[in-house]
Amino acid sequence: MYSKHFLLDLDTVKKYVLDNIDFFEKEDALISEEIGDGNINYVFRVKNKNTNKSIILKQADVLLRSSGRPLDINRNKIEYSILKIQGELSEKHVPKIFFYDETMAVIAMEDISEYKNMRTELISGKHFPHFVEEITNFMVNTLVNTTDMVCDTKVKKQRTGLFVNPDLCEISEDLVFTEPYIDYKGRNIIYPGMEDFVKKELYEDEDLVLKVSKLKYEFMTRTQALIHGDLHSGSIFINEKGIKIIDPEFAFYGPIGYDIGNVIAHLVMAYTYRYLNHSKEEDDFSMWVKSAIDTILPTFIQKFDVEYSKKVKEPSFSNPKFKEWFLSEIEKNALATAGLEIIRRTVGDTKVKEIELTTDSKKRIKMEKALIKTAKKLILNENRAENRAIVKMLIQELEE
Ligand code: ADP
Ligand code: MG
Repeated sequence: MYSKHFLLDLDTVKKYVLDNIDFFEKEDALISEEIGDGNINYVFRVKNKNTNKSIILKQADVLLRSSGRPLDINRNKIEYSILKIQGELSEKHVPKIFFYDETMAVIAMEDISEYKNMRTELISGKHFPHFVEEITNFMVNTLVNTTDMVCDTKVKKQRTGLFVNPDLCEISEDLVFTEPYIDYKGRNIIYPGMEDFVKKELYEDEDLVLKVSKLKYEFMTRTQALIHGDLHSGSIFINEKGIKIIDPEFAFYGPIGYDIGNVIAHLVMAYTYRYLNHSKEEDDFSMWVKSAIDTILPTFIQKFDVEYSKKVKEPSFSNPKFKEWFLSEIEKNALATAGLEIIRRTVGDTKVKEIELTTDSKKRIKMEKALIKTAKKLILNENRAENRAIVKMLIQELEE
């Protein structure tokens, strides 16, 4: 083990693997590459040139990769601990963890490159009939089992403390819940021609700003379950066999609906991109993504309900009326979160590829307006029955 943290490079990473991890033989011919595409950390692949056997090392630095500003390195320990817990709860949906080094802030894990970045796959028009089944299984496994009702409540309380994730939560609180509505740091990036619309529909809509403040408070205080915290389509890797979920460094005990809402929001981005840039036709992709958007939440609720009934024996919480209330709270939060995520990925500074790739100004403005209008309904409308028909609302806005 090394005694002090330093940032690995293509040479030192090979030596590091040989010195610290029982994975390769000393005489193996190793090659290394840096494959990270995120804003935050460094990801290396080290591979045996002859056998192609490979391992992934994810290292956190004391400085943020994109901006160079300092960020608590403890986030890496949280990520490792969460990956381990998620591995126990939903083994086939996360990479296997081989090794962890707290000093160097290195997590060594299985190379899942057989699976592809889901956002890239969606943009290229691939569809995945097993996705709703797999993602709802992952979410139910990791979420129901970390609630106070299923997890031993003392273990849950202890873990809540362990996984307080102040730095990363602060990023979400600011970028998801505050800045898109109150641009107090001037970091929003508004597309030319959208200035008046954003001002009127977001900054000056007092009902919206108040509702989002309430949702922010819920996010900060509702320790329902150990959520992934950043479940967008770039954290999901997929192929025709299954899915792998990576990058849980934003994880903490938060509202269950937050993960579900994120998944839905990024499918909405994929659908809107396809609709405006390729065809409105009912091709396999559009049919599939529309159905996925509208079925993820009901499928999750139905599976969560079954698991809950099976596992919760505690007298207050096994009351079916309590369960019904709990499920309806999850549903409300999920729909509102989908709206929040759509808005922040449209006007905030961390835009998604689907928006950035839409360079035709007329299409881009149509896209942003339809997304913002739909998202506002999801946030403001308390009528869940109406809000469940997300695709219908979106198409109405796109056809305006
Ligand atoms: P960051 O925290 O910087 O966002 P990620 O965990 O998202 O880092 O990883 C960045 C990229 O590295 C991913 O998009 C993926 O391409 C690659 N990657 C990360 N973990 C693995 C893995 N276990 N197997 C293969 N590729 C991986
Ligand atoms: Mg990432």
